[in-house]
Amino acid sequence: MKIKDLTPAQALKALDKDPEHCPYCGSDMEGEGVDIQDDSKKAQQECTCMNCSASFYINYKYSDADFINGPEIDDDEEEDDGG
Ligand SMILES: [Zn+2]
Repeated sequence: MKIKDLTPAQALKALDKDPEHCPYCGSDMEGEGVDIQDDSKKAQQECTCMNCSASFYINYKYSDADFINGPEIDDDEEEDDGG
């Protein structure tokens, strides 16, 4: 597979358009764990190309949230810690 000769700035620009594929060779990139930043509004994921081993930090920004579940409240059981 042909690997493009890009400067880091050019590679990042290509990632802006298509963060899923390696800007150098066009292969799929494998994402590692997501690192949530301090204020919880930003996240960073390390992505590595499986083909040419180029790697990047992809930055994410909080946009909104979807509701899944409310709190689990169990009326039947009373917890008694004693003490
Ligand atoms: Zn690549």
